Amino acid sequence: MQPKKSDWENLDVFIREFANINQEFIQGLDNKRVASLDNPLMLEKLSEKGVDFQSAIEKLKQDIIPNLSASRGPRYWGFVTGGATPVATFADWLISTFDQNVSIDGDSIAANIERQTLRWLVSLFELPDTFDGIITTGATSANFLGALCARQFAGNQQSIDVAKQGVTGLEIDIFSTTPHSSMLKSLGMAGLGQDNIIIVDSLKNSEAMDVNDLQNKLDQSNAKSKFIIASAGTVTGTDFDDLVSIAEIAQKHKAWLHVDAAFGIFERLVNQEKLSCGLEQADSITLDSHKWLNVPYENGVFLTRHLPILQASCDVPAAYLPSTGESPAFMSLGVENSRRFRALPVWMTLLVYGKLGITSWVKNNIDCAQLFAQKIKDSKEYELVRDCQLNVVLFRPNCSDLSLEDADKKTDLFLQRINQQGRVFLSPGIWNNKKVIRAAFSNWQTQKLDVDIAITSLTEIADQYHSY
Ligand SMILES: *Cc1c(COP(=O)(O)O)cnc(C)c1O
Repeated sequence: MQPKKSDWENLDVFIREFANINQEFIQGLDNKRVASLDNPLMLEKLSEKGVDFQSAIEKLKQDIIPNLSASRGPRYWGFVTGGATPVATFADWLISTFDQNVSIDGDSIAANIERQTLRWLVSLFELPDTFDGIITTGATSANFLGALCARQFAGNQQSIDVAKQGVTGLEIDIFSTTPHSSMLKSLGMAGLGQDNIIIVDSLKNSEAMDVNDLQNKLDQSNAKSKFIIASAGTVTGTDFDDLVSIAEIAQKHKAWLHVDAAFGIFERLVNQEKLSCGLEQADSITLDSHKWLNVPYENGVFLTRHLPILQASCDVPAAYLPSTGESPAFMSLGVENSRRFRALPVWMTLLVYGKLGITSWVKNNIDCAQLFAQKIKDSKEYELVRDCQLNVVLFRPNCSDLSLEDADKKTDLFLQRINQQGRVFLSPGIWNNKKVIRAAFSNWQTQKLDVDIAITSLTEIADQYHSY
């Protein structure tokens, strides 16, 4: 088969299939197994002549769709997973239709929509107007940009242009307490080294940084430059570093302060006294739109108060590229040169749902997490490992008479059975050296009814366990 321009005359055929698949998939989510655990590896040969569209659709329906997860649905509580609202989904469909390349200005309005989206996000999270940045593929790539900026900034302090000369000779000490694994990956990719972190103590029974220990460790450091990686919402404990104190210390030591606030930043919408207070002082911030903003993958944001440092890190040195206007081209602010119009679903989400709409689903998620935690606490079969701090619940089956090792085994087994049953999907974690089960609430659709369904599933799993 070859594509023909006249295929567009049959656009209605595509749209009809598209509508059918969408309707069946989205409306069937509530009754679908939340995760597909045993998936066949497809080992067919590459097709030489191709197949017709209808056969491809048949294959899609037979082999692929039944083996997808319901990760956009209300009871996928693994990791921190957002769904996708109707409006964000709609806008995301259109990205493919429009197929813009948002790398430079000069051929469409798309880059300016991305700029407006960034301004709206800065306003949504009540950050100072001095923050600017770029839409990324997710929090990992935003954390990577944070690492790139930190090393460029360190280079400036040491008269090395890292982007041009490399990291050789660069002296930088890195401080963090509970960096997300993607931050470690980013340090590796940035040539700073995953193992080169000076781990700062955490506060007792928390993943948050002990600021006194940070102070001590910085005082002991002889490196010419310093890089502090703080967290606003750790992925297991949802703990927040004391950013006000950390920012003050960072300033004193002329350190770059990067804050990974991938999902924790949404706390700013619901708390009067913000756990992330001090975030305004960060040099750079990571946040995810494909988590709590409920925009389809891949969508994250990197913000910084020092756009020229970001630009120096990512500048595309090509003479043929026109430099129009005062704002740097997006291709000179991030990893990719060619870029999807991924601002559109964020822009449309902010436009349609507004601050209040978004706040309402964030609040509802926190309420559902609290309710689930309470029900776990009340049950004889399960134990709540830690009081719920935000939107993540840490629990395990009742292990009161078990050794550490047997408790971990029982927890693994329960998690496996819960996910096999398929009414809710959960993921593992570690808390105080114990294996735990994590339930993270960040889908706009999740309701109290879903909490009841999950509790019913958990009760059944516990009953089955006793009947062995
Ligand atoms: C999810 C998450 C990341 C990684 O985000 P991706 O969007 O999956 O790349 C980084 N940091 C934190 C705190 C997260 O929760």
